[in-house]
Amino acid sequence: MSGGPGANQRLAARRAAATPRGVAVTAPFFVQRAENSVLWDVEGRRYLDFAGGIAVLNTGHRHPRVIEALRRQLDLFTHTAYQVASYESYVALAERLARLTPGTGPKKAAFFSTGAEAVENAVKIARVATRRPAVVAFAGAFHGRTMLTMALTGKVVPYKAGFGPFPGDVWHIPFPSTLHGVTTEQSIDALHRLFKADVEPSQVAAILVEPVQGEGGFYPAPPELMRALRRECDEHGILLVADEVQTGFGRTGRWFAMHHHDVLPDLMTVAKSLAAGLPLSGVVGRADVMDAPAPGGLGGTFAGNPLAIAAAHAVLDVMEEERLVERGAALGAQLRARLEALQARVPQMAEVRGLGAMLAVELMTPDRRPDPDFAKAVQQRAMNGGLLLLTCGVHANVIRFLFPLTIGKAEFEEGLSILEKALTP
Ligand code: PMP
Repeated sequence: MSGGPGANQRLAARRAAATPRGVAVTAPFFVQRAENSVLWDVEGRRYLDFAGGIAVLNTGHRHPRVIEALRRQLDLFTHTAYQVASYESYVALAERLARLTPGTGPKKAAFFSTGAEAVENAVKIARVATRRPAVVAFAGAFHGRTMLTMALTGKVVPYKAGFGPFPGDVWHIPFPSTLHGVTTEQSIDALHRLFKADVEPSQVAAILVEPVQGEGGFYPAPPELMRALRRECDEHGILLVADEVQTGFGRTGRWFAMHHHDVLPDLMTVAKSLAAGLPLSGVVGRADVMDAPAPGGLGGTFAGNPLAIAAAHAVLDVMEEERLVERGAALGAQLRARLEALQARVPQMAEVRGLGAMLAVELMTPDRRPDPDFAKAVQQRAMNGGLLLLTCGVHANVIRFLFPLTIGKAEFEEGLSILEKALTP
């Protein structure tokens, strides 16, 4: 079943007339159906999906276990509002996440719907727990599109431009990057300057960090950064919040990116691949901190929706049974080797970086300036070849890879050869 020739174009015209341009769309096609790592458009054309709905589909499109769990839940109930009438699956998911996330101390979890909502709630919890107002985040960070998370996001165009004023007492320091010559020492110096010039550390509730900066360009946080942040937090009574919305659930070759580090966060935010496309996010962390807000302070009508929770349990089952953490690490290593081999032939490939399967390639001009035009051209050629890719980075000159960790061998190989052709036209 397809819309026939011209269907994409007809729908694009309707889209332009009916929906605002602010909701910009990457792909030139409209989706008809999807299966694991493959999308089909309304004209019957097939695309390999290396975007994964922006890091949401670590277990692929329509994993049979997820579909089965959703069907079972549909026959039971689809909504009660957890705060009105609760259900075991929510509690069981909190128990599971407490076990799976780094650290063995007592933990609790609360569920929400979007990544931004999880970040907002982590800040709410941190503020009550510390009775302090300020939050420190990183330049280049992405934490969401709500007012507070826009304030926390460290990239103006397109996320913040024109949308202010934003909530106050949010401060940014630079994120380390070898390629751009920012060291961990410089980041921490900037934090010290901030504490001297702008905000007393005794007024800071939380430092919010993505263990691999995602939208900002797939920069892994150096272990010494995480250690230094932990030290600063301990010294000043600040809470360390790891935003694992994009890095979680096997993407980085471990269950969570914080598993690569030898220090623990106080709170973690999760979303995206947690529920394979059903809207679900969470805050997981130290039980004493999580319990700071008074009864009624946390929640939301749809927060922890039973269908989404059922999908999340199936996702965790699939990850365990199919050993997707290990598979992600292996696929990442394979992709990294391919990209590194290509670097000799493609001078624009300035850096291949990432953690596990959370990999990206940064593209620069011969005189070492960001090359978003080349990134766009590669993305376009890949699209023409049947491969959906996403860019990222403050200058939109980074191509990132977010294929399902369940992708078949043949599809992965096929994707890599389309990518290779797109990089070497
Ligand atoms: N935090 C991080 C690290 C993210 O990557 C994103 C989404 N790209 C968000 C928060 C916001 O998530 P959502 O779009 O679900 O609100």
